[in-house]
Amino acid sequence: MATYNSFASLNDAIVDCRRCSRLVDFRESVARKKRKQFESWDYWGRPVPGYGETTASLLLTGLAPAAHGGNRTGRVFTGDKSADFLVRCLHEVGIANQPNSDALDDGLILNNAYMTPVLKCVPPQDKPKPEELRNCASYLSAELTLLSNVTCILALGKIAFDACLRFFRGQFNFLMKDYPFGHGNQFVLENGMILVGSYHPSPRNVNTGRLTQKMMVELLNHVKGLSR
Ligand code: SF4
Repeated sequence: MATYNSFASLNDAIVDCRRCSRLVDFRESVARKKRKQFESWDYWGRPVPGYGETTASLLLTGLAPAAHGGNRTGRVFTGDKSADFLVRCLHEVGIANQPNSDALDDGLILNNAYMTPVLKCVPPQDKPKPEELRNCASYLSAELTLLSNVTCILALGKIAFDACLRFFRGQFNFLMKDYPFGHGNQFVLENGMILVGSYHPSPRNVNTGRLTQKMMVELLNHVKGLSR
């Protein structure tokens, strides 16, 4: 497995990656076809690396870039409904400097936080195959190694939560079933790292009321306190 001594070299490798042929085809076909409202955009159409402060103590992980969000704009949680909700909440608790995340040049700055998708390419129907998650795990692993100040991870959704657990299972001996995903479920791992689960801020969860702004803000305030 390749090793990376800087985020610059890691992110260069990520954006050039073509390891998963199904995802390469999909991300590029979305970028070619575009959504009507974004016809004037030159879609990114490549893997999407992480974003934020590389010295942060809080890491937020999500599943993957959205087809017309990160896959269009080139930045994680940018330009889609999940991003609108999440960044509004991040701003409310002081982790983001502004309530919107629309484009690379929108001025978004994260305070003591870094966010990254565990799968760097958008999968069809937001459903990755196990081998695609395995392929991309090396990048998450490199990020977690370089993010040496992280003390708390907030995993947005079960896939992101389990991907983090799999990384730590490579270092410590534990059973995945002993760390069940749930909104607000919190575990302290053997190295002292705190892993917290959150429902994903997807329109499906937000529109059905499964995840409200109040719930998200409360959890973000909680993890902000844990990662000081
Ligand atoms: S999902 Fe990850 S491993 Fe697969 S092509 Fe994209 S960046 Fe590469």
